[in-house]
Amino acid sequence: MRLEGKNAFITGAAQGIGKSIAMGMAREGANIAIADVNMESAQAAAKEVSALGVKSTAIQLDVSNQDNVVQALKSFALEYGTFDILVNNAGITRDGILMRMKEEDWDAVLNINLKGSFLCSKEAIKIMGKQRYGKIISISSVVAFTGNAGQANYSSSKAGLIGLTKTIAKEYASRGIRANAVAPGFIQTAMTDVLTDEVKDEMKKAIPLGQLGTPEDVADAVIFLASKEADYITGQVLHVNGGMYM
Ligand code: NAP
Repeated sequence: MRLEGKNAFITGAAQGIGKSIAMGMAREGANIAIADVNMESAQAAAKEVSALGVKSTAIQLDVSNQDNVVQALKSFALEYGTFDILVNNAGITRDGILMRMKEEDWDAVLNINLKGSFLCSKEAIKIMGKQRYGKIISISSVVAFTGNAGQANYSSSKAGLIGLTKTIAKEYASRGIRANAVAPGFIQTAMTDVLTDEVKDEMKKAIPLGQLGTPEDVADAVIFLASKEADYITGQVLHVNGGMYM
């Protein structure tokens, strides 16, 4: 078990990629806080995770709300004893071509995807710094590197996460904190379920491995970065995209 006894706080973990990370980390022996805006789904996910034999609780969290973040992360550390792993996974899309993109769609995406990760990382670092140990893993996206028509807000937020990750890696390496990002390609979740079969077929043509990824593909990369095997890795981006961007 690669994460035996570690305590992990995962944002947006009630479903999709975040939930897969939670289940995968639990199978490796980690205790998991499922932090999400959707408390009902978070509670259901925490129940599934604790059935794997680890401690798991649901925490109501809007990552874009500073007061909520401070209170949630502090109470997690108090309840679990240590704060070993933060996964900045919560994210949303509000797509539209730039000329038609409303300011509120830009703000909503940047506030949750980028500012949310800044707020959670800042609070986690206060605790991890005192422990002289911590792993921060942020879920970026392939579109941070390629851009994507219709996603000016989303691709900017995901590119911002790379700058945030590298900066945290430089500022806090001396306190034993590692910061890395995982950049998934197109993964089968609720976020991509809304796309038509035609769009998905077009996507597959652009993927050398010929298929969309699964949430477990992303979870495996996150678990690796959280594990001891990746202790000498910081400030990096691990691409999980079937070869669609190299
Ligand atoms: P998802 O199925 O939509 O799950 C995201 C979770 O985050 C949902 O439970 C959502 O709750 C929650 N959430 C939304 N706003 C939040 C907030 N303010 N505070 C806390 N939680 C919040 O998405 P996913 O596909 O698993 O994506 C997970 C991450 O991977 C995201 O950062 C996404 O950008 C990234 N990613 C996904 C793909 C892909 O192809 N799926 C590719 C690259 C990167 P509600 O459902 O109630 O809103």
